[in-house]
Amino acid sequence: MGIIAENPLKKGFVREKRERCVYFCGMPKSIQLKFLPAELGDEVGVNRKFCKEAGVANGLVVWKKKSLDARGRQPFFLITAEVYGKGEERVADLGFQLKDVSQCKEVHVVGAGPAGLFCALELIELGYKPIVLERGKGVKERRRDLALMNREKLVNPESNYCFGEGGAGTYSDGKLYTRSNKRGPVQKVLRCLVDHGAPEAITYEAHPHIGTNKLPQLVEGLRKSIEDCGGEVRFNARVDGLDVQAGAIRSLVLQGGDRLVVNAVVLATGHSARDVFELLDRSGVAIEAKPFAIGVRLEHPQQLIDQIQYKCEVRGDALPPSSYSLVEQIQGRGVFSFCMCPGGIIAPAATAAGEVVVNGWSPSKRNGRFANSGYVVTVDDRDFAPFEKAGALRALRYQQHWEKTAFEATGSLSAPAQRMEDFIQGKVSANLPENSYLPGLVSCGIDGVLSPAVHNRIRESLVVLGKKMKGFRTNEAILVGVESRTSSPIRIPRLSESLQHTEIGNLYPCGEGAGYAGGIMSAALDGMRVANACALHL
Ligand SMILES: Cc1cc2nc3c(=O)[nH]c(=O)nc-3n(C[C@H](O)[C@H](O)[C@H](O)COP(=O)(O)OP(=O)(O)OC[C@H]3O[C@@H](n4cnc5c(N)ncnc54)[C@H](O)[C@@H]3O)c2cc1C
Repeated sequence: MGIIAENPLKKGFVREKRERCVYFCGMPKSIQLKFLPAELGDEVGVNRKFCKEAGVANGLVVWKKKSLDARGRQPFFLITAEVYGKGEERVADLGFQLKDVSQCKEVHVVGAGPAGLFCALELIELGYKPIVLERGKGVKERRRDLALMNREKLVNPESNYCFGEGGAGTYSDGKLYTRSNKRGPVQKVLRCLVDHGAPEAITYEAHPHIGTNKLPQLVEGLRKSIEDCGGEVRFNARVDGLDVQAGAIRSLVLQGGDRLVVNAVVLATGHSARDVFELLDRSGVAIEAKPFAIGVRLEHPQQLIDQIQYKCEVRGDALPPSSYSLVEQIQGRGVFSFCMCPGGIIAPAATAAGEVVVNGWSPSKRNGRFANSGYVVTVDDRDFAPFEKAGALRALRYQQHWEKTAFEATGSLSAPAQRMEDFIQGKVSANLPENSYLPGLVSCGIDGVLSPAVHNRIRESLVVLGKKMKGFRTNEAILVGVESRTSSPIRIPRLSESLQHTEIGNLYPCGEGAGYAGGIMSAALDGMRVANACALHL
């Protein structure tokens, strides 16, 4: 039992001990207070205000939610905290209950992204031994391949921003926001991340963020926890084949020909494992085309976004670099921003030679000079019609077509780009501003790398936004193409209760690639759900 004995008022906000923390017993008071940004510099003072408000001397203050409201002239923070007085009991959130599973029944998990890793942790808690098979390399080796991409414009198809230890989540931005209201599992994931090195603030921030610089070490720690319990994580272990007999997978065939006999298979290979989709289609395993979103990455100077959002000349240190979330309905379809990265970098997210794909990330401090976000339009069967012959792969073929077109526009991993006002006016930019995309940009008409259904809506929506957000429509901003891996173009169908594939009893489609998640947190939660379904079945 961990007992918090120190006086929280001396320590600033409380770093809780794990397990059952009995500081006092009874019910805490939940209190919400408003603070000016500058007041948050004095955490002791903030906690003292909570104690005063609760009428509790020297209480234990636990922050539950912190959000920023910047809609008015004066931005302010709203903090909700629980204040525990003497005799009041606090039961802290728990992470995973890990144990030795080295001698337990095996479950094979394909893919070491957030879905695969959190599935493995949950399986351990449930008393199963996860064998995680990952096509890519460990985080450290992976870093070298990313440097090659950024410096030499070379793509390693097994090790890149999407493939390798931690999946697309490792060198991602690490935003952990989810619309899921299942607080229990969300807190369990967050607590586990804190136990592996993430800041405590992710447990109460309204829009938690870790940052690319902190994620690799954290992901390595998750893997070590799996291994310490007797689970296995194998790198350079690409699954190339399935041996399906009588409605069940008997064995997995690895790159190089090794066969692994399996009890159950969790398929968590992400939205970029095109060879897996092709393999399933070839093997007659049911998959379906699904809508996804495609567009560009917008990049503005961060200072400009701060000025628009905070209505000030200079942001100052008391406020975080600002973000935005945009959505417009244009000609019957949604045009929206997503994965906004304040102070961030536009990253090359291609997984094969001959394609250009962009995405974005930011460091934990979000202190870069630029602000970027995906700005995309939903596409569906109306758009995939020219690729109809590809059957269930038609959405994937559409996605590939525009990624290849973007590559052909520049002839390399350099990305096509256009200044915003030039794009709106239909002029190719004479030059491009300084930007964050390391493999370099080439001035091109964005109209040439997206379908009219997409670029016309983006153009129209930017005109609307220019009127709503003064300063947003500017030639200081650029559009970079193409943002195409927003979610999976394929769904691998599964039964709604048992989560088994609709035709193959021991196959569990999981995470973003199977069409059941869209981001780190939702992928992790889906991994845990699948682990429970799989354990129930086994
Ligand atoms: C640059 C970038 C920034 C992002 N920022 C954010 C963010 O801030 N917040 C957020 O919520 N989301 C973000 N995302 C998206 C997020 O990373 C994904 O939604 C999430 O990682 C999906 O998890 P997953 O486990 O389902 O799949 P993935 O993370 O894609 O993992 C799949 C894994 O399977 C492996 N694999 C594929 N095929 C095989 C095979 N045949 N055999 C063995 N292994 C295989 C891959 O190598 C990969 O490691 C970002 C993505 C990128 C690329």
